[in-house]
Amino acid sequence: MGRVAVGAAVVGAAAVVGVAALVVRQRMRNSGRWSSAMAIVKEFEENCSTPLVKLRQIADAMTVEMHSGLASDGGSKLKMLISYVDSLPSGDEAGIFYALDLGGTNFRVLRVQLGGKGSGIEHQEFAEATIPPALMSGSSDALFDYIVEKLANFVAEEEQRFHQPEGRQRELGFTFSFPVLQSSINSGTLIRWTKGFSIDDAVGQDVVAELDKALKRKGVEMRVSALVNDTIGTLAGGRYANNDVAIAVILGTGSNAAYIEHANAIPKWRGPLPDSGEMVINMEWGNFKALALPLTEFDIALDVESVNPGEQIFEKLISGMYLGEILRRILLKMAEEASFFGDKIPAKLKIPLTLSTPEMSSMHHDKSPDLHVVKDKLKSILEISNTSLQTRKVVVELCNIIASRGARLAAAGILGVLKKMGRDGPREGGGKTVIAMDGGLYEHYTEYRKCLETTISELLGEGLASSIEFMHSNDGSGIGAALLAASHSLYRW
Ligand code: ADP
Ligand code: MG
Repeated sequence: MGRVAVGAAVVGAAAVVGVAALVVRQRMRNSGRWSSAMAIVKEFEENCSTPLVKLRQIADAMTVEMHSGLASDGGSKLKMLISYVDSLPSGDEAGIFYALDLGGTNFRVLRVQLGGKGSGIEHQEFAEATIPPALMSGSSDALFDYIVEKLANFVAEEEQRFHQPEGRQRELGFTFSFPVLQSSINSGTLIRWTKGFSIDDAVGQDVVAELDKALKRKGVEMRVSALVNDTIGTLAGGRYANNDVAIAVILGTGSNAAYIEHANAIPKWRGPLPDSGEMVINMEWGNFKALALPLTEFDIALDVESVNPGEQIFEKLISGMYLGEILRRILLKMAEEASFFGDKIPAKLKIPLTLSTPEMSSMHHDKSPDLHVVKDKLKSILEISNTSLQTRKVVVELCNIIASRGARLAAAGILGVLKKMGRDGPREGGGKTVIAMDGGLYEHYTEYRKCLETTISELLGEGLASSIEFMHSNDGSGIGAALLAASHSLYRW
Protein backbone atom coordinates (compact mmCIF):
# COMPACT_ATOMS: atom_id res chain seq x y z
CA MET A 1 0.00 0.00 0.00
CA GLY A 2 1.42 3.34 -0.99
CA ARG A 3 1.56 6.37 1.28
CA VAL A 4 -1.38 8.07 -0.19
CA ALA A 5 -3.46 4.96 0.05
CA VAL A 6 -2.54 4.53 3.74
CA GLY A 7 -3.48 8.12 4.41
CA ALA A 8 -6.87 7.64 2.77
CA ALA A 9 -7.52 4.46 4.74
CA VAL A 10 -6.72 6.24 8.01
CA VAL A 11 -9.05 9.10 7.15
CA GLY A 12 -11.76 6.61 6.11
CA ALA A 13 -11.42 4.70 9.38
CA ALA A 14 -11.59 7.93 11.36
CA ALA A 15 -14.78 8.85 9.53
CA VAL A 16 -16.28 5.44 10.26
CA VAL A 17 -15.40 5.79 13.93
CA GLY A 18 -16.88 9.30 13.94
CA VAL A 19 -20.17 8.18 12.38
CA ALA A 20 -20.36 5.18 14.68
CA ALA A 21 -19.80 7.45 17.67
CA LEU A 22 -22.56 9.72 16.44
CA VAL A 23 -24.95 6.81 15.96
CA VAL A 24 -24.12 5.46 19.41
CA ARG A 25 -24.54 8.88 20.96
CA GLN A 26 -27.83 9.33 19.09
CA ARG A 27 -28.98 5.91 20.23
CA MET A 28 -27.96 6.63 23.78
CA ARG A 29 -29.79 9.91 23.63
CA ASN A 30 -32.82 8.18 22.13
CA SER A 31 -32.76 5.44 24.69
CA GLY A 32 -32.30 8.07 27.38
CA ARG A 33 -35.32 9.92 26.04
CA TRP A 34 -37.26 6.71 25.71
CA SER A 35 -36.55 5.66 29.25
CA SER A 36 -37.49 9.07 30.63
CA ALA A 37 -40.72 8.96 28.59
CA MET A 38 -41.42 5.49 29.97
CA ALA A 39 -40.72 6.73 33.49
CA ILE A 40 -43.41 9.40 33.00
CA VAL A 41 -45.86 6.74 31.74
CA LYS A 42 -45.07 4.45 34.64
CA GLU A 43 -45.55 7.16 37.23
CA PHE A 44 -48.82 8.21 35.58
CA GLU A 45 -50.06 4.63 35.55
CA GLU A 46 -49.27 4.24 39.23
CA ASN A 47 -51.02 7.47 40.12
CA CYS A 48 -54.10 6.40 38.13
CA SER A 49 -54.35 2.95 39.64
CA THR A 50 -57.71 1.85 40.98
CA PRO A 51 -57.37 -1.45 42.85
CA LEU A 52 -60.61 -2.92 44.22
CA VAL A 53 -59.86 -1.76 47.80
CA LYS A 54 -59.62 1.80 46.56
CA LEU A 55 -62.83 1.47 44.52
CA ARG A 56 -64.62 0.17 47.63
CA GLN A 57 -63.42 3.19 49.62
CA ILE A 58 -64.74 5.44 46.88
CA ALA A 59 -68.09 3.61 46.80
CA ASP A 60 -68.37 3.96 50.60
CA ALA A 61 -67.55 7.66 50.36
CA MET A 62 -70.27 8.03 47.70
CA THR A 63 -72.83 6.36 50.01
CA VAL A 64 -71.81 8.60 52.94
CA GLU A 65 -72.05 11.73 50.77
CA MET A 66 -75.49 10.66 49.54
CA HIS A 67 -76.70 10.42 53.13
CA SER A 68 -75.30 13.82 54.11
CA GLY A 69 -76.46 15.50 50.90
CA LEU A 70 -80.01 14.34 51.60
CA ALA A 71 -79.87 15.30 55.28
CA SER A 72 -78.86 18.94 54.97
CA ASP A 73 -78.52 21.64 52.37
CA GLY A 74 -74.84 22.14 51.61
CA GLY A 75 -74.03 19.12 53.81
CA SER A 76 -72.20 17.48 50.96
CA LYS A 77 -70.61 18.09 47.59
CA LEU A 78 -73.61 16.08 46.34
CA LYS A 79 -76.67 18.27 45.96
CA MET A 80 -79.08 15.30 46.00
CA LEU A 81 -81.79 17.40 44.36
CA ILE A 82 -85.48 16.55 44.65
CA SER A 83 -86.85 16.13 41.13
CA TYR A 84 -90.55 16.42 42.01
CA VAL A 85 -91.00 13.30 39.95
CA ASP A 86 -92.88 11.05 42.33
CA SER A 87 -94.60 8.96 39.70
CA LEU A 88 -92.79 7.64 36.71
CA PRO A 89 -94.71 7.14 33.43
CA SER A 90 -97.14 4.23 33.72
CA GLY A 91 -97.66 3.36 30.06
CA ASP A 92 -101.24 4.70 30.01
CA GLU A 93 -100.19 8.11 28.67
CA ALA A 94 -101.56 9.06 25.27
CA GLY A 95 -101.17 11.93 22.83
CA ILE A 96 -98.41 13.91 21.16
CA PHE A 97 -95.70 15.41 23.34
CA TYR A 98 -92.51 17.32 22.68
CA ALA A 99 -89.13 17.51 24.34
CA LEU A 100 -86.10 19.76 24.23
CA ASP A 101 -82.85 18.17 25.33
CA LEU A 102 -80.05 20.59 26.20
CA GLY A 103 -77.08 19.36 28.12
CA GLY A 104 -73.77 19.84 26.42
CA THR A 105 -72.41 19.47 22.95
CA ASN A 106 -75.59 18.41 21.23
CA PHE A 107 -79.07 19.70 21.44
CA ARG A 108 -82.18 17.79 20.39
CA VAL A 109 -85.81 18.55 19.65
CA LEU A 110 -88.17 15.57 19.76
CA ARG A 111 -91.76 14.60 19.30
CA VAL A 112 -93.32 11.37 20.52
CA GLN A 113 -96.75 9.97 19.88
CA LEU A 114 -98.02 7.81 22.71
CA GLY A 115 -100.75 5.30 22.03
CA GLY A 116 -102.07 4.84 25.57
CA LYS A 117 -102.48 1.64 27.59
CA GLY A 118 -100.13 -1.05 26.44
CA SER A 119 -99.38 0.42 23.03
CA GLY A 120 -96.25 2.39 23.96
CA ILE A 121 -94.51 4.87 21.67
CA GLU A 122 -96.24 4.80 18.28
CA HIS A 123 -94.07 7.34 16.57
CA GLN A 124 -91.00 9.38 17.36
CA GLU A 125 -88.94 11.88 15.47
CA PHE A 126 -86.10 14.18 16.35
CA ALA A 127 -83.85 16.91 15.02
CA GLU A 128 -80.36 17.64 16.29
CA ALA A 129 -78.12 20.68 16.35
CA THR A 130 -74.83 21.66 17.94
CA ILE A 131 -74.66 24.58 20.31
CA PRO A 132 -72.37 27.23 18.75
CA PRO A 133 -69.49 27.80 21.20
CA ALA A 134 -70.22 31.55 21.28
CA LEU A 135 -73.65 30.87 22.76
CA MET A 136 -72.13 28.88 25.63
CA SER A 137 -70.84 32.06 27.23
CA GLY A 138 -73.13 34.71 25.77
CA SER A 139 -76.43 35.87 27.20
CA SER A 140 -79.32 33.81 28.49
CA ASP A 141 -81.66 35.32 25.86
CA ALA A 142 -79.33 34.42 23.00
CA LEU A 143 -79.09 30.78 24.10
CA PHE A 144 -82.83 30.33 24.68
CA ASP A 145 -83.72 32.13 21.43
CA TYR A 146 -81.47 29.75 19.52
CA ILE A 147 -83.09 26.69 21.11
CA VAL A 148 -86.61 27.95 20.54
CA GLU A 149 -85.86 28.75 16.90
CA LYS A 150 -84.91 25.11 16.34
CA LEU A 151 -88.09 24.02 18.07
CA ALA A 152 -90.16 26.45 15.99
CA ASN A 153 -88.66 25.05 12.75
CA PHE A 154 -89.33 21.50 13.88
CA VAL A 155 -92.97 22.27 14.66
CA ALA A 156 -93.43 24.30 11.45
CA GLU A 157 -92.28 21.34 9.36
CA GLU A 158 -94.47 18.70 10.95
CA GLU A 159 -97.29 16.88 9.21
CA GLN A 160 -100.92 17.71 9.74
CA ARG A 161 -101.48 14.41 11.57
CA PHE A 162 -99.33 15.62 14.45
CA HIS A 163 -101.38 18.73 15.07
CA GLN A 164 -103.13 18.95 18.44
CA PRO A 165 -106.92 18.60 18.67
CA GLU A 166 -108.90 21.89 18.92
CA GLY A 167 -108.47 23.66 22.23
CA ARG A 168 -105.48 21.61 23.31
CA GLN A 169 -102.09 23.20 23.79
CA ARG A 170 -98.86 21.54 22.76
CA GLU A 171 -96.91 20.31 25.79
CA LEU A 172 -93.20 20.05 26.23
CA GLY A 173 -90.75 18.33 28.55
CA PHE A 174 -87.49 20.22 28.94
CA THR A 175 -84.37 18.20 29.63
CA PHE A 176 -81.92 20.75 30.96
CA SER A 177 -78.86 18.90 32.20
CA PHE A 178 -77.29 21.36 34.59
CA PRO A 179 -77.77 21.64 38.36
CA VAL A 180 -81.24 23.11 38.99
CA LEU A 181 -82.94 23.73 42.31
CA GLN A 182 -86.39 22.49 41.47
CA SER A 183 -89.48 24.06 43.09
CA SER A 184 -92.08 21.97 41.27
CA ILE A 185 -92.17 19.56 38.37
CA ASN A 186 -92.06 22.50 35.95
CA SER A 187 -90.06 25.22 37.66
CA GLY A 188 -86.59 25.54 39.08
CA THR A 189 -83.60 27.88 39.23
CA LEU A 190 -80.18 27.28 37.74
CA ILE A 191 -77.60 26.76 40.51
CA ARG A 192 -74.52 26.96 38.29
CA TRP A 193 -73.28 25.96 34.87
CA THR A 194 -71.11 22.92 34.14
CA LYS A 195 -69.56 21.33 31.02
CA GLY A 196 -67.96 24.53 29.75
CA PHE A 197 -71.09 26.75 29.80
CA SER A 198 -70.76 30.07 31.60
CA ILE A 199 -73.71 32.41 30.99
CA ASP A 200 -73.74 34.59 34.09
CA ASP A 201 -77.14 36.19 33.69
CA ALA A 202 -78.90 32.80 33.69
CA VAL A 203 -77.60 31.68 37.09
CA GLY A 204 -80.28 32.02 39.76
CA GLN A 205 -83.02 32.43 37.15
CA ASP A 206 -86.02 30.17 36.71
CA VAL A 207 -85.15 28.02 33.72
CA VAL A 208 -88.76 27.50 32.64
CA ALA A 209 -89.50 31.24 32.91
CA GLU A 210 -86.49 31.92 30.65
CA LEU A 211 -87.72 29.33 28.16
CA ASP A 212 -91.28 30.73 28.34
CA LYS A 213 -90.00 34.22 27.54
CA ALA A 214 -88.12 32.91 24.51
CA LEU A 215 -91.23 30.97 23.36
CA LYS A 216 -93.20 34.25 23.55
CA ARG A 217 -90.48 36.21 21.75
CA LYS A 218 -90.53 33.69 18.92
CA GLY A 219 -94.32 33.28 18.91
CA VAL A 220 -94.29 29.54 19.70
CA GLU A 221 -97.33 28.33 21.66
CA MET A 222 -96.24 25.56 23.94
CA ARG A 223 -96.66 24.72 27.61
CA VAL A 224 -93.60 23.53 29.54
CA SER A 225 -95.09 20.68 31.61
CA ALA A 226 -91.92 19.10 32.97
CA LEU A 227 -88.43 20.34 33.74
CA VAL A 228 -85.97 17.51 34.24
CA ASN A 229 -82.36 16.72 33.58
CA ASP A 230 -80.98 13.93 31.44
CA THR A 231 -80.68 11.48 34.33
CA ILE A 232 -84.32 11.94 35.37
CA GLY A 233 -85.40 11.72 31.73
CA THR A 234 -83.35 8.57 31.24
CA LEU A 235 -84.78 7.04 34.40
CA ALA A 236 -88.33 7.84 33.22
CA GLY A 237 -87.68 6.58 29.69
CA GLY A 238 -85.94 3.47 31.03
CA ARG A 239 -88.75 2.71 33.46
CA TYR A 240 -91.32 3.03 30.66
CA ALA A 241 -89.43 0.26 28.83
CA ASN A 242 -88.48 -1.91 31.81
CA ASN A 243 -90.12 -1.97 35.22
CA ASP A 244 -86.90 -2.98 37.03
CA VAL A 245 -85.11 0.26 36.16
CA ALA A 246 -84.19 2.03 39.42
CA ILE A 247 -81.01 3.97 38.60
CA ALA A 248 -79.95 6.08 35.62
CA VAL A 249 -76.39 7.07 34.81
CA ILE A 250 -75.28 9.49 32.12
CA LEU A 251 -71.82 9.26 30.63
CA GLY A 252 -71.64 11.87 27.89
CA THR A 253 -69.96 15.23 27.80
CA GLY A 254 -70.54 15.30 31.56
CA SER A 255 -71.69 12.68 34.03
CA ASN A 256 -74.53 12.40 36.50
CA ALA A 257 -76.80 9.84 38.16
CA ALA A 258 -80.36 9.61 39.48
CA TYR A 259 -82.13 6.93 41.50
CA ILE A 260 -85.40 6.19 43.23
CA GLU A 261 -85.33 7.05 46.94
CA HIS A 262 -87.81 6.14 49.70
CA ALA A 263 -89.81 9.23 50.59
CA ASN A 264 -89.14 8.61 54.29
CA ALA A 265 -85.39 9.06 53.73
CA ILE A 266 -86.05 12.65 52.67
CA PRO A 267 -86.16 15.18 55.52
CA LYS A 268 -89.36 17.24 55.87
CA TRP A 269 -87.65 20.61 55.30
CA ARG A 270 -87.10 19.59 51.70
CA GLY A 271 -90.78 20.17 50.95
CA PRO A 272 -93.98 18.21 50.54
CA LEU A 273 -93.48 14.44 50.62
CA PRO A 274 -95.00 12.50 47.76
CA ASP A 275 -97.95 10.16 48.36
CA SER A 276 -96.43 7.38 46.34
CA GLY A 277 -93.69 6.83 48.94
CA GLU A 278 -90.96 7.38 46.37
CA MET A 279 -89.06 10.30 44.95
CA VAL A 280 -86.53 10.44 42.16
CA ILE A 281 -83.31 12.10 43.33
CA ASN A 282 -80.95 13.89 40.97
CA MET A 283 -77.61 13.30 42.64
CA GLU A 284 -75.46 15.72 40.62
CA TRP A 285 -72.73 13.15 41.20
CA GLY A 286 -70.33 14.94 38.87
CA ASN A 287 -69.44 17.15 41.81
CA PHE A 288 -68.46 14.20 44.01
CA LYS A 289 -65.04 14.42 45.57
CA ALA A 290 -63.21 12.06 47.94
CA LEU A 291 -59.69 11.73 49.24
CA ALA A 292 -59.41 8.30 47.71
CA LEU A 293 -59.92 9.63 44.15
CA PRO A 294 -56.70 9.05 42.19
CA LEU A 295 -55.88 12.61 41.07
CA THR A 296 -52.72 13.19 39.08
CA GLU A 297 -50.85 16.41 38.34
CA PHE A 298 -52.65 16.47 34.96
CA ASP A 299 -56.09 16.34 36.57
CA ILE A 300 -55.15 19.09 38.97
CA ALA A 301 -53.86 21.34 36.19
CA LEU A 302 -56.92 20.60 34.05
CA ASP A 303 -59.16 21.56 36.97
CA VAL A 304 -57.27 24.77 37.79
CA GLU A 305 -57.48 25.91 34.16
CA SER A 306 -61.17 24.96 33.76
CA VAL A 307 -64.12 27.38 33.89
CA ASN A 308 -65.19 25.78 37.21
CA PRO A 309 -62.05 25.10 39.29
CA GLY A 310 -62.59 22.95 42.36
CA GLU A 311 -65.95 21.75 41.08
CA GLN A 312 -67.14 18.62 39.24
CA ILE A 313 -63.99 16.72 40.19
CA PHE A 314 -65.56 13.26 39.66
CA GLU A 315 -66.92 14.39 36.28
CA LYS A 316 -63.46 15.63 35.28
CA LEU A 317 -62.08 12.12 35.86
CA ILE A 318 -64.78 10.08 34.16
CA SER A 319 -66.64 12.02 31.46
CA GLY A 320 -66.23 12.64 27.75
CA MET A 321 -65.44 16.31 27.96
CA TYR A 322 -62.16 15.60 29.74
CA LEU A 323 -60.63 12.20 28.85
CA GLY A 324 -59.05 13.35 25.59
CA GLU A 325 -57.77 16.47 27.29
CA ILE A 326 -56.04 14.41 29.99
CA LEU A 327 -54.36 12.43 27.22
CA ARG A 328 -53.18 15.66 25.56
CA ARG A 329 -51.69 16.86 28.84
CA ILE A 330 -49.65 13.73 29.50
CA LEU A 331 -48.44 13.60 25.88
CA LEU A 332 -47.37 17.24 26.16
CA LYS A 333 -45.34 16.50 29.27
CA MET A 334 -43.68 13.57 27.51
CA ALA A 335 -42.90 15.79 24.51
CA GLU A 336 -41.51 18.56 26.71
CA GLU A 337 -39.53 16.51 29.18
CA ALA A 338 -38.54 13.46 27.17
CA SER A 339 -38.71 14.67 23.53
CA PHE A 340 -41.22 11.89 22.98
CA PHE A 341 -42.09 13.18 19.51
CA GLY A 342 -38.59 14.33 18.60
CA ASP A 343 -36.62 17.50 19.20
CA LYS A 344 -39.48 19.83 18.44
CA ILE A 345 -42.53 19.98 20.66
CA PRO A 346 -45.57 19.62 18.39
CA ALA A 347 -47.28 23.03 18.50
CA LYS A 348 -50.80 21.59 18.30
CA LEU A 349 -50.17 19.57 21.44
CA LYS A 350 -49.94 22.79 23.42
CA ILE A 351 -53.47 23.88 22.55
CA PRO A 352 -56.08 22.91 25.17
CA LEU A 353 -58.89 20.61 24.00
CA THR A 354 -57.26 19.74 20.65
CA LEU A 355 -57.57 16.05 21.40
CA SER A 356 -61.22 15.09 21.85
CA THR A 357 -62.48 11.95 23.54
CA PRO A 358 -63.98 10.52 20.30
CA GLU A 359 -60.50 10.82 18.69
CA MET A 360 -58.93 9.21 21.73
CA SER A 361 -61.45 6.37 21.58
CA SER A 362 -60.76 5.68 17.90
CA MET A 363 -57.04 5.45 18.68
CA HIS A 364 -57.77 3.19 21.65
CA HIS A 365 -59.89 0.90 19.46
CA ASP A 366 -57.27 0.61 16.72
CA LYS A 367 -56.79 -3.13 16.20
CA SER A 368 -54.60 -2.89 13.07
CA PRO A 369 -51.12 -4.48 13.38
CA ASP A 370 -49.35 -1.24 12.45
CA LEU A 371 -51.75 0.97 14.45
CA HIS A 372 -52.46 3.07 11.39
CA VAL A 373 -55.49 4.77 12.96
CA VAL A 374 -53.22 6.07 15.73
CA LYS A 375 -50.70 7.13 13.10
CA ASP A 376 -53.33 8.97 11.05
CA LYS A 377 -54.88 10.68 14.08
CA LEU A 378 -51.51 11.86 15.40
CA LYS A 379 -50.81 13.24 11.95
CA SER A 380 -54.18 14.84 11.23
CA ILE A 381 -54.95 16.24 14.70
CA LEU A 382 -51.56 16.97 16.18
CA GLU A 383 -49.50 17.25 12.98
CA ILE A 384 -47.05 14.67 14.31
CA SER A 385 -45.62 12.55 11.50
CA ASN A 386 -43.15 9.68 11.31
CA THR A 387 -44.18 8.04 14.55
CA SER A 388 -42.72 4.62 15.23
CA LEU A 389 -44.92 1.65 16.02
CA GLN A 390 -43.41 1.65 19.51
CA THR A 391 -44.50 5.27 20.04
CA ARG A 392 -48.00 4.51 18.81
CA LYS A 393 -48.25 1.57 21.20
CA VAL A 394 -47.48 3.89 24.09
CA VAL A 395 -50.25 6.26 22.96
CA VAL A 396 -52.74 3.36 23.00
CA GLU A 397 -51.49 2.35 26.44
CA LEU A 398 -52.11 5.89 27.71
CA CYS A 399 -55.66 5.83 26.28
CA ASN A 400 -56.18 2.59 28.16
CA ILE A 401 -54.91 3.97 31.46
CA ILE A 402 -57.14 7.06 31.25
CA ALA A 403 -60.28 5.27 30.02
CA SER A 404 -59.94 2.40 32.50
CA ARG A 405 -59.50 4.74 35.42
CA GLY A 406 -62.62 6.65 34.35
CA ALA A 407 -64.70 3.53 33.81
CA ARG A 408 -63.61 1.93 37.08
CA LEU A 409 -64.38 5.11 39.02
CA ALA A 410 -67.83 5.29 37.39
CA ALA A 411 -68.37 1.66 38.49
CA ALA A 412 -67.39 2.59 42.05
CA GLY A 413 -69.93 5.43 41.92
CA ILE A 414 -72.64 2.98 40.85
CA LEU A 415 -71.69 0.62 43.69
CA GLY A 416 -72.11 3.57 46.09
CA VAL A 417 -75.65 4.14 44.79
CA LEU A 418 -76.51 0.43 45.01
CA LYS A 419 -75.29 0.47 48.63
CA LYS A 420 -77.46 3.47 49.48
CA MET A 421 -80.44 1.62 48.01
CA GLY A 422 -79.58 -1.58 49.87
CA ARG A 423 -79.17 -3.37 46.56
CA ASP A 424 -75.51 -4.34 46.79
CA GLY A 425 -76.39 -7.61 48.52
CA PRO A 426 -78.92 -10.41 48.03
CA ARG A 427 -82.49 -9.11 47.91
CA GLU A 428 -85.68 -10.75 49.07
CA GLY A 429 -87.47 -12.33 46.14
CA GLY A 430 -84.27 -12.11 44.09
CA GLY A 431 -85.38 -8.95 42.26
CA LYS A 432 -83.23 -7.43 39.57
CA THR A 433 -81.91 -3.89 39.43
CA VAL A 434 -81.65 -2.43 35.97
CA ILE A 435 -79.46 0.62 35.41
CA ALA A 436 -80.51 2.79 32.48
CA MET A 437 -77.39 4.14 30.83
CA ASP A 438 -77.08 6.89 28.26
CA GLY A 439 -74.60 9.36 26.81
CA GLY A 440 -72.21 9.39 23.88
CA LEU A 441 -69.27 8.12 25.93
CA TYR A 442 -71.14 5.02 27.12
CA GLU A 443 -72.65 4.48 23.71
CA HIS A 444 -69.53 4.76 21.57
CA TYR A 445 -66.49 4.11 23.75
CA THR A 446 -66.67 0.30 23.78
CA GLU A 447 -63.51 -0.26 25.83
CA TYR A 448 -64.79 2.15 28.46
CA ARG A 449 -68.19 0.47 28.58
CA LYS A 450 -66.71 -3.03 28.80
CA CYS A 451 -64.40 -1.95 31.59
CA LEU A 452 -67.27 -0.34 33.52
CA GLU A 453 -69.38 -3.48 33.31
CA THR A 454 -66.62 -5.91 34.24
CA THR A 455 -65.60 -3.72 37.17
CA ILE A 456 -69.14 -3.88 38.57
CA SER A 457 -68.91 -7.68 38.37
CA GLU A 458 -65.51 -7.65 40.10
CA LEU A 459 -66.89 -5.42 42.84
CA LEU A 460 -70.08 -7.38 43.44
CA GLY A 461 -68.78 -10.87 42.76
CA GLU A 462 -70.23 -13.29 40.22
CA GLY A 463 -73.29 -14.26 42.26
CA LEU A 464 -74.59 -10.77 42.88
CA ALA A 465 -73.54 -9.31 39.56
CA SER A 466 -76.23 -11.37 37.82
CA SER A 467 -78.91 -9.35 39.62
CA ILE A 468 -77.59 -6.10 38.13
CA GLU A 469 -78.22 -5.31 34.49
CA PHE A 470 -77.19 -2.41 32.32
CA MET A 471 -79.63 -1.16 29.73
CA HIS A 472 -78.64 1.29 27.05
CA SER A 473 -81.50 3.73 26.99
CA ASN A 474 -80.80 5.37 23.66
CA ASP A 475 -82.05 8.95 23.60
CA GLY A 476 -83.81 8.07 26.84
CA SER A 477 -83.31 11.52 28.26
CA GLY A 478 -85.32 13.31 25.59
CA ILE A 479 -88.00 10.66 25.28
CA GLY A 480 -88.22 10.48 29.06
CA ALA A 481 -88.87 14.23 29.26
CA ALA A 482 -91.69 13.90 26.71
CA LEU A 483 -93.09 10.99 28.77
CA LEU A 484 -92.92 13.09 31.94
CA ALA A 485 -94.65 15.98 30.13
CA ALA A 486 -97.36 13.41 29.35
CA SER A 487 -97.63 12.07 32.89
CA HIS A 488 -97.78 15.66 34.18
CA SER A 489 -100.07 16.89 31.40
CA LEU A 490 -102.84 19.45 31.87
CA TYR A 491 -105.19 17.03 30.16
CA ARG A 492 -106.34 13.49 30.93
CA TRP A 493 -105.86 11.02 28.17
P1 ADP B 1 -74.28 15.43 25.74
O1 ADP B 1 -73.60 14.74 26.87
O2 ADP B 1 -73.52 16.62 25.28
O3 ADP B 1 -75.73 15.67 25.99
P2 ADP B 1 -74.01 13.00 24.24
O4 ADP B 1 -74.68 12.17 25.23
O5 ADP B 1 -74.30 12.76 22.79
O6 ADP B 1 -74.23 14.53 24.44
O7 ADP B 1 -72.47 12.81 24.47
C1 ADP B 1 -71.55 13.47 23.68
C2 ADP B 1 -70.19 13.19 24.28
O8 ADP B 1 -69.92 11.79 24.21
C3 ADP B 1 -69.10 13.87 23.53
O9 ADP B 1 -68.81 15.13 24.10
C4 ADP B 1 -67.94 12.91 23.70
O10 ADP B 1 -67.22 13.25 24.86
C5 ADP B 1 -68.57 11.56 23.92
N1 ADP B 1 -68.47 10.78 22.68
C6 ADP B 1 -69.18 10.91 21.55
N2 ADP B 1 -68.79 10.03 20.61
C7 ADP B 1 -67.78 9.34 21.16
C8 ADP B 1 -66.92 8.29 20.70
N3 ADP B 1 -67.01 7.79 19.47
N4 ADP B 1 -66.02 7.82 21.56
C9 ADP B 1 -65.90 8.32 22.79
N5 ADP B 1 -66.65 9.30 23.27
C10 ADP B 1 -67.59 9.80 22.48
MG1 MG C 1 -77.11 14.42 26.78
